[in-house]
Formats: sequence, structure tokens, C-alpha cells
Amino acid sequence: MSSENFSGTSTPARVCQCQRSCRVFVSKREGSKGRRFFRCSAWREENDCGFFEWLDDANHTTIDLKYQIIAVEERINQKMDAMILHMEKSISLIKLAFFVFVMMSFAVLYYMMK
Ligand SMILES: [Zn+2]
Repeated sequence: MSSENFSGTSTPARVCQCQRSCRVFVSKREGSKGRRFFRCSAWREENDCGFFEWLDDANHTTIDLKYQIIAVEERINQKMDAMILHMEKSISLIKLAFFVFVMMSFAVLYYMMK
């Protein structure tokens, strides 16, 4: 699952008290994070009619869950990246150790055959 699942959902149009088409915002507040809501298009302006409505009231719990899953996925990805980086470092260290071992073996063989 990816965040693309959200961009594909169509947003129903809403007209507020002052007959302007509403704008859709995404909540950044803790507790309602990720929830979308309608707001007067003149929000934070003088002629704001004060219209407010949650866009996804009915299924906001599933939306919250989706965001939580995405957050967990991101954390797992970060851990995986760190692990892969660590493994790559280990592998290059093993390669270096092996190379040194082979060179030393050759050196020992060379001196023994002399
Ligand atoms: Zn309005």
C-alpha cells in the first residue's frame, strides 16, 4: 500500500453559506491528523462565513488507520535501509579481510618456497 491510495479519491464539491465553493484542507492537529475538512474558501479572510465540515466523518477511523499503517511502513523502511547499509558495510569489511588473508597467504607461500 502506498500514499497514492489517497490522491485517487475524488473530493465531493461543497458550497458554503456564502455560496462560494469550499476548499478542502487536511488537519495537522493531533487527534484529527490527516482528516480532511471543508472550509470556506475565504478562510482566514475578512469575509469568511465560518463554514466547517469534516469531509470523511463516516469513515475517518479507517482513514486514521491507513495513515497509521503508512507511518509504520515508513518506520520499517527506515529500519530496513539502516540494516542494508550496515550489511553492505559488513560485506565490504569481509571482502577486505578476505583480500588481506589471500595476500598474506601468497606472501607466506612465496617465502616458504624460496
Ligand atoms: Zn463561505
